[in-house]
Amino acid sequence: MAWSWNLRMVMMLRDIAWECINVVVGNGKQTSLGYDDWHDVSPSIKVFPPAIIQLFSSTNEAKLSSIIRNGEWAWPKGRMLRAEALAMVQASPSYFLPKPDIKDVFIWKIDPSSIFSVKSALKKLSTYPPNVSWYKGVWGKHYVLEHSFILMLTCRRRLATTNMLLSWGMEIDASCPLCKSANETLSHLFFCYPFSTMV
Ligand SMILES: [Zn+2]
Repeated sequence: MAWSWNLRMVMMLRDIAWECINVVVGNGKQTSLGYDDWHDVSPSIKVFPPAIIQLFSSTNEAKLSSIIRNGEWAWPKGRMLRAEALAMVQASPSYFLPKPDIKDVFIWKIDPSSIFSVKSALKKLSTYPPNVSWYKGVWGKHYVLEHSFILMLTCRRRLATTNMLLSWGMEIDASCPLCKSANETLSHLFFCYPFSTMV
């Protein structure tokens, strides 16, 4: 079950990862004709309907090498060449040719080094919310670190109040150890507990 969840998550990230990779075409043997970003109008599987892909090759899984003959592009020809496919052919400048003597090179285009890095991948995947206007009131060189840390846990709803400890499976008394008048929750601790209400 955990495996299928992991696999589902990886599959969800697949489209994002694809956006980060393009191909410098060599012999076309490592590159997917339909899925990889090897041409200005690719990934062709997303740009064109399946019928157009079938003009180029019999299967969606075909390699780019299936449309390379003797170092030249073997574009589909004749009456079957529909407008969408023609657009791809016409968008290929004369200098854009396969290089049969070398392998395809995959470029991780979101890192200046062109090489995959965990840092650049995390940056791409992260959707950090913008800074709040009051953060300077909490984080600063001269502030008490424990206070800042407790506020961070509170904002993330990870403070170990008794209701959290109970949800983690600990067998403890749920009531607030300070006033005993209610269960200890975040809202009780910061907004309802008589002392914090006075503050
Ligand atoms: Zn209380």
